[in-house]
Amino acid sequence: MKLPNYIDIAIIGAGVQALTLTTHLLQKSAKHYSKFIVFDSAGTWMNQWQQQFAAQQIPYLRSPAVHHPDPNPHQLRTFAETRANELFPPYDRPGTKLFNDFCGEVIRRWQLENKVYQAKVSQVLPIKHLSRSRFQLVLADGQTIIARRVVLATGSGKVLLPHWVERITSDYPSDQLCHSQQVDLRHLNLTGEHILIIGGGLTSGHLAIGAVSLGATVTLMTRKQLQEKIFDAEPGWLGPKYLKDFHAETDWSSRWQKIQQARNGGSMTPEMMLQLRKASHQGKISLNESCQVSSAQYQDNYWQVSCLDGSQHQFDRIWLATGTKFDATEHPLLKDVLQTYPTEIVNGLPVLDEYLRLPKSNFFIMGGLAALQIGPVARNIGGGRMAARRIVPAIVKSSLVV
Ligand SMILES: Cc1cc2nc3c(=O)[nH]c(=O)nc-3n(C[C@H](O)[C@H](O)[C@H](O)COP(=O)(O)OP(=O)(O)OC[C@H]3O[C@@H](n4cnc5c(N)ncnc54)[C@H](O)[C@@H]3O)c2cc1C
Repeated sequence: MKLPNYIDIAIIGAGVQALTLTTHLLQKSAKHYSKFIVFDSAGTWMNQWQQQFAAQQIPYLRSPAVHHPDPNPHQLRTFAETRANELFPPYDRPGTKLFNDFCGEVIRRWQLENKVYQAKVSQVLPIKHLSRSRFQLVLADGQTIIARRVVLATGSGKVLLPHWVERITSDYPSDQLCHSQQVDLRHLNLTGEHILIIGGGLTSGHLAIGAVSLGATVTLMTRKQLQEKIFDAEPGWLGPKYLKDFHAETDWSSRWQKIQQARNGGSMTPEMMLQLRKASHQGKISLNESCQVSSAQYQDNYWQVSCLDGSQHQFDRIWLATGTKFDATEHPLLKDVLQTYPTEIVNGLPVLDEYLRLPKSNFFIMGGLAALQIGPVARNIGGGRMAARRIVPAIVKSSLVV
């Protein structure tokens, strides 16, 4: 694709959220087909998703089959008619391959194969163009393009690391301590190794089971007791059951609190808990709950780890499944935009209008950063659908254009 000088809508990120937006947009208005370009460093749809699922060897999704990027909620079940064994009980959670194949089918059906332009967007500059507000996207290779509207759909947020990591003074090989996003189980031989995995979310479960299957023993350390939950946030957050009160709340800090309470840190699915307990009985995983590292140093090819309870341990590797933080003030593409279109920011989350725009602008935000409007599922597939339903009317109805 040759980059034009101007595009009506620039979507940054080609993940599941952006894919959901584009199918919803085309369902409402086919004439918008030529009006948008999606930018992604990978150059293909869903690259980040596919990499993470493959790297952590995740067999099936946590969310049920109705959650997917197509506007028709039944579409995935229809697609899976001959592949029922790839829907996992309870709630028919799709297998990883089934979901990826389905997304491929969605991309083909909506003719979106050639809609992703391979480029990292390094800056978004609000500009006045012939007395109209526009945005200039600066790409990493130096090219630029003007867009009338921008949708930020860049995904996971900033990697969160525990404080003791900053205090490590010894040198260590980079693969001996890394965030879960950098771990790729496909390329490791862990025979005989003892690995410390930190974090109580499903990711640490996947990594623990994966490491054991590669011959390691694992210590899984969590600040709190492990929590067992089928979904990361209750399904009531997808509809009026909880959202009615959430949207009635006018105090943004209270909304932020509600989001935290609903997610309440990480949790394990019941079947992951079962696998962990089984591996723990077999002596392959030790579950250190309510425990925190105070310091770690790398000496003689081992990690010497001290915990707040005074205990000392030795490990070959440390993996930090400590999550990410959605913080508008630290997002490189929001720096200039927020100067021109300032908005209140509550613990990192921007206050957006009901169409998920920065106030008085044509700059839309979807994903975890839209949680003050969408609620605790904003970062998930279901949240993507809720976001698309808000953004699309502001794009297709001329009366709603700023
Ligand atoms: C391991 C894992 C499993 C999950 N399982 C589920 C699940 O079962 N169900 C569920 O509902 N949710 C799940 N989630 C949560 C969520 O749905 C995913 O994180 C999902 O990938 C979010 O989609 P996204 O489009 O916001 O972001 P991403 O999939 O991360 O896509 C964002 C894209 O933006 C691109 N990008 C970022 N910055 C730039 C830039 N400057 N220029 C160009 N491109 C850029 C990236 O290359 C990336 O491709 C899971 C998350 C993880 C990490």
